[in-house]
Amino acid sequence: MTTEEKFEAMKKVRDDVVGLTESPLYDFRMKEGNFPVIGDGTHDASIMFIGEAPGKNEAATGKPFCGASGKMLDWLLESIDLPREKVYITNILKDRPPENRDPRPEEIELYVPFLDRQIEIIQPKVLATLGRFAMQYIMKRYGLDVDIEPISKIHGKVFDAGSVQIIPLYHPAVAIYDASRKDELQKDFEVLQQCI
Ligand code: URA
Repeated sequence: MTTEEKFEAMKKVRDDVVGLTESPLYDFRMKEGNFPVIGDGTHDASIMFIGEAPGKNEAATGKPFCGASGKMLDWLLESIDLPREKVYITNILKDRPPENRDPRPEEIELYVPFLDRQIEIIQPKVLATLGRFAMQYIMKRYGLDVDIEPISKIHGKVFDAGSVQIIPLYHPAVAIYDASRKDELQKDFEVLQQCI
């Protein structure tokens, strides 16, 4: 796809999510005056990060990972000299669940086709999942069901899915209040460095 085609295809993803009135999260979006959060970064990224769902700050601005977890993600990216503008960052859900509760299966099912379209547009070399919801969806999606284990076991490992490499990572939120987890997460990010 040309740059323009990618831009148009991503715009269509955005328009479709904006008009997703059948979503169980749509009324909450409108009531709160929130935005859907589509994604952020370059359409030519070789690494795509996939988080869970927008939080309060993200839904208020329309930008993924711009609150406390976002600051941690920015720090992790800086630690491996990877500018945020060089990657693409998105989430499994494009709308914020009330109280930041876990995504429900029917919500995941409704929103993942948009994620699939984004992957198709960007064609990244690496899918770096942040947290267990993204890990589970992406590993299943690429036929790695048998390799799925608790994230505590497989974080930072590289799985070859043919067209793409998949690296499950802890969600940056785990490191906000625990410095030892920050080091662990940072080591996992070093694995990413080799894939750039
Ligand atoms: N947590 C996520 O999973 N995604 C965001 O965009 C922000 C916080």
